[in-house]
Amino acid sequence: MPRKSPVIPGHQVIGVIEKLGPRAKRFSLGARVGIAWLHHTDGTCEFCRSGAENLCDHPTFTGYTVDGGYAEYAVASEDFIYAIPEQFPDEQAAPLLCAGIIGFRSLRLSGIKPGGKLGFYGFGAAAHVAIQVARHWNVDVYAATRDARHQNLALELGAKWAGGTFAEPPVKLDAAIIFAPAGEIVPAALKALRKGGTLVLGGIHMSPIPSFDYDLLYQERVIRSVANNTRQDGEEFLRVAAEIPIRMHTQLFPLREANRALNALKSDAIEGAAVLRVEG
Ligand SMILES: [Zn+2]
Repeated sequence: MPRKSPVIPGHQVIGVIEKLGPRAKRFSLGARVGIAWLHHTDGTCEFCRSGAENLCDHPTFTGYTVDGGYAEYAVASEDFIYAIPEQFPDEQAAPLLCAGIIGFRSLRLSGIKPGGKLGFYGFGAAAHVAIQVARHWNVDVYAATRDARHQNLALELGAKWAGGTFAEPPVKLDAAIIFAPAGEIVPAALKALRKGGTLVLGGIHMSPIPSFDYDLLYQERVIRSVANNTRQDGEEFLRVAAEIPIRMHTQLFPLREANRALNALKSDAIEGAAVLRVEG
C-alpha cells in the first residue's frame, strides 16, 4: 500500500527540465532527465554516511511517499535525478530507472563473475534488462519462468536454457536471482545452487517462504534481499546500459489507459515493460 494517500504513482519517470529551483544548477532547462525510485535520503544517518544510502533511515520514494510520474509535471531534487544517455528514446529509458537499476544491483549482489552460471527466476522487466548486462559480462544465464513467451524472450536474449519455474536447470548455478515475488521459489532456487552459491531476492515484497530442509542452505549458500538502490548504482548502470546498449521490449499505453496497462502487467500479458506516455 502507498505510504501517502492519495499518491500519484509512477517511479520510473523521464521528462525534460521545465523549471529550476533557486539554487538548482546541475541541469539546464530542456535537459532530459530521469527520476528513479530513490527520491531522496537524509544524507546524515549511519547508512547514508557509510555509503549505503539505499538503506537510509529517512528516505522518500517516488510514487510511494512522494508523487510520481503518472502526471504532466513532477518535482525532484537535482542531486537525485539522472542524465539520460542520448541513445535511449523516452520509452526505452523509463524502464531502465527501476527495473534496470534494481536488476543491476541484484547482479552485483549475486557476486557473479565473468564466465559464471547465473539463474533467473521470473522473467519480467528487471530480468529482461539484467540478462543483457549479464551477457555483456560473459555470464551464462539460465531462466526459469512460468510463461512460455517469457521463456522464449529469455532464449532470444541469449539465455543458455529456459524452463518452467520449478524445472531444474541442467547445471549447478554459481548464483541465482529471484525476480518473481513468490516465496515458494526459494527452495527450488536453493536446490539449483552449487556449494557457496548466493541466492538474491530481487523483489520489494515476496509471499511467505515455505520451510525447507537445512541441507538446501548448508555448505555456505547465502540468501540475501535487495533493497532500493544507491545513486552510484544508478549512474553505473546507465553507463553500462549505454555501452551495451540495452534494448527494451516495451509496450506503450497512453496515460489515460494506465489501469489497462496495470491489469495487463498483473496477468503477465506484457512482454518486457509497460510504459505510459503523457499525451499532448
Ligand atoms: Zn540516511
